[in-house]
Amino acid sequence: MCMQNSDPFSIALKQLEKVKQFISIEENISEQFQAPQKFLEVSIPVRMDNGNIKVFKGFRSQFNNARGPYKGGIRFHPQVNASEVKALSMWMTWKTAVVDIPLGGGKGGVIVNPKELSVHELERLSRGYIQAIYKFLGPENDVPAPDVYTDPRIMGWMLDEYEKLAGRHAPGVITGKPLSLGGSKARGYSTAQGGFYVLADAVKKLNIVSKRVIVQGFGNAGANMAEILSKNSYTIIAVSDSKGAIQNTNGLNVAELLQHKNTTGSVLNFNGAQNLAGNILEQETDILVLAALENSVTADNAGKIKAKLIIELANGPITHEADSILAGNKIEVVPDILANAGGVAVSYFEQVQNAYSYYWTEKDVLEKLQQLMTSAFAEVWSRKEKYNCDIRTSAYILAVERVAQAMRDRGWA
Ligand code: NAD
Repeated sequence: MCMQNSDPFSIALKQLEKVKQFISIEENISEQFQAPQKFLEVSIPVRMDNGNIKVFKGFRSQFNNARGPYKGGIRFHPQVNASEVKALSMWMTWKTAVVDIPLGGGKGGVIVNPKELSVHELERLSRGYIQAIYKFLGPENDVPAPDVYTDPRIMGWMLDEYEKLAGRHAPGVITGKPLSLGGSKARGYSTAQGGFYVLADAVKKLNIVSKRVIVQGFGNAGANMAEILSKNSYTIIAVSDSKGAIQNTNGLNVAELLQHKNTTGSVLNFNGAQNLAGNILEQETDILVLAALENSVTADNAGKIKAKLIIELANGPITHEADSILAGNKIEVVPDILANAGGVAVSYFEQVQNAYSYYWTEKDVLEKLQQLMTSAFAEVWSRKEKYNCDIRTSAYILAVERVAQAMRDRGWA
């Protein structure tokens, strides 16, 4: 095992350092990127079904609001920690800038395995988290959304709790809500849909003809991506979830696989495939979609990846060291801050619809999303050509240029 630092916030800072080799940023702006503007750590006491109180730890990181209110999801996961939440909030800052929406970056998380909670316990925890941080939220301050192991139902409870505490309706305080509470059409699969638009642009630019795809992670981002790709003449040859991986080199029937996952809770033992004994990341493929968690690709396995193109639907799935190995092997990576920005883009559309109390059709949302993602990809690609760098670096250059400019214009430099 080689020594490597997989601490998410250190990785996020190293990615930023690299940008400074290409563009100059004032020292005092750079200093403001070294930590979130505000970081909250809260204790959430929850009455469990057995009558006992259990205390959960939660975080909210407000990284930068130069371009608009803090924006970022809430993760419920046993491995949530302060460094991860800070890194995710920094990435959100770059992401909202890459797609040029008037928002900043934030992120939240609670250390919990939600699969071990009853529905009532989950609801009490979700409401408790909002009670702990609601003074820092608001449509003009900080707007949460779903992330790993949180979903529209949880957003509905959180919205309700916020509105009770605030004493008024405020649908724009949270996005990824159920449609009945002011959610946007297409929000449910927007991360994957946005990823699909930029993948299609990257495939064209890189002249990738054969379209075999492996998808790591089969949740909201990964399963929707597999479904969209399979409907658009890509062949999904392997997928994995937290329980294991399956493969069919002739192509998986994704619609049937989705049903199988819904009924059994896993992709394993699917009739139309074999369970895969080896590591899914190391299989032959043209395109690899990373849609699970951070640090999936490290210096230990990066050299074994055979894909020509990697799409980071997950946040931070490739360590800094692994990134250099992939670049050395001429494997292109469409980075998280561009590839998965479709989610926050439609979250922004949701906020706009909430502000106007006027709701768009699914077709309207998808047209606007495609326009936004395609123009972000073009801006990123033009910087890749200008600076002769990889796609991650060019996306960072674009994001940092935009955030730094807003900071200068506010007199923060
Ligand atoms: P999710 O909870 O719906 O799905 C996560 C999936 O990853 C599950 O299928 C789980 O089984 C799988 N998984 C966990 N550990 C794994 C492992 N070791 N190997 C293979 N699979 C594993 O979460 P999601 O919303 O799909 O988020 C996935 C990633 O995408 C996260 O990094 C998240 O931050 C990012 N993301 C999601 C959205 C969104 O709108 N959902 C937006 C932007 C970024």
